[in-house]
Amino acid sequence: MSKKQEAQNVLVHLGPLLPDLESAYKDIHSHPELSMQENRTAGIAAERLRSAGYDVTTGIGKTGVVGVLRNGDGPTLMLRADMDALPVREATGLPYASHVSSDQNGRSVPVMHACGHDMHVSWLIGAATLLAKSRNAWKGTLMPLFQPAEETGAGAQAMIDDGLFERFPKPDAILGQHVMVGSSGVIGTRSGVITSAGDSFEIRMFGRGAHGSMPQFSIDPVIMAAATVLRLQTIVSRELAPTDAAVVTVGSLQAGTKENVIPEEAVIKLNVRTFDEDVRKRVLAAIERIVNAEAEASRAPKKPEITPLDRYAFVKNDPEATKRAIEAFQSYFPEDRVKETQPTTASEDFGSFGTGWQSPSVFWFVGGTDPETYAKAKKSGTIADIPTNHNPRFAPVIHPTLEAGVEAMVVAAQAWLAA
Ligand SMILES: [Zn+2]
Ligand SMILES: [Zn+2]
Repeated sequence: MSKKQEAQNVLVHLGPLLPDLESAYKDIHSHPELSMQENRTAGIAAERLRSAGYDVTTGIGKTGVVGVLRNGDGPTLMLRADMDALPVREATGLPYASHVSSDQNGRSVPVMHACGHDMHVSWLIGAATLLAKSRNAWKGTLMPLFQPAEETGAGAQAMIDDGLFERFPKPDAILGQHVMVGSSGVIGTRSGVITSAGDSFEIRMFGRGAHGSMPQFSIDPVIMAAATVLRLQTIVSRELAPTDAAVVTVGSLQAGTKENVIPEEAVIKLNVRTFDEDVRKRVLAAIERIVNAEAEASRAPKKPEITPLDRYAFVKNDPEATKRAIEAFQSYFPEDRVKETQPTTASEDFGSFGTGWQSPSVFWFVGGTDPETYAKAKKSGTIADIPTNHNPRFAPVIHPTLEAGVEAMVVAAQAWLAA
């Protein structure tokens, strides 16, 4: 049987399911939940899996959900979706836009599915439902997993810390997908690193406060921090080869309260993206060296404190598994719907599952931009104007994005499971 036929045996039921999936998507979109608060979304996922015939475990790493469907001898395949939304006030103007506010550390914040995880949940509900419906088309164990808190980098790890690897069968492969700016329904992936490592730090630099009119009595942390920020920018420009990509962004620099008070300390928050472990180590070592040296250059009374914040590992696509998935995509989708992508400086905690379980994993992107809008923007060089993930106007078109993600997940799954 051809790869295309193997996928079609399952996808034949997609048409009738689509209206229901669309309303599930709109419902989840208009009820977004912040990281580690995904109770309603997890409830929907669990209910859908249960009614499709999966053994369902809930509450893994707080709100994570895992379904297991054993369907004879064959490989074990894990399919992953993330569920959380972001503290962003939605400005899409869509009829199903979010008006939700929610508590974040004691503060009420607007919440929006600005990264498309509502789409990911809907895709996985669709794929899991269809595969459960067509049990004679495949053999093996299917394990859809809905994770909390991708946006804080804590969700995959929370599920792992809650015994994921001990409580569930080790997958022979792990698949995941993300909606992005790109022509709707176009699949993009690559072998090797596909999303960057992300490392964030808070750096506290110490000085000595004094009256603004008497700088001779101060050790000015504002100068110390300012010099540090500038010098940090030389890591990428002067210490790395032009072919070694990295990003060092200082996103926050805070010191002082008043123009005539030299403060006691300054706080820098910075974010690093790298695509290679060796480059990552060099950049992180350079940050530490520069921060300490600048403090010393200023006669700081004590060493700066460097505190790691979020951390994301690389998502590295296993070459063999990726080849298998790409071949399946190419057999099913028209030629112009499957593309090789560059690695992106986005980061993801999807990689934690494959790395921790030592299972090969494949991650791919699905375009969510109206194809005509995208083609026009490409022609006029204005792709940067299309609202990206995390933008308050990020609004994937439902069709064909919704069906494309379900199809891609089923097509790739069948590359392992087809009977
Ligand atoms: Zn995101
Ligand atoms: Zn995301």
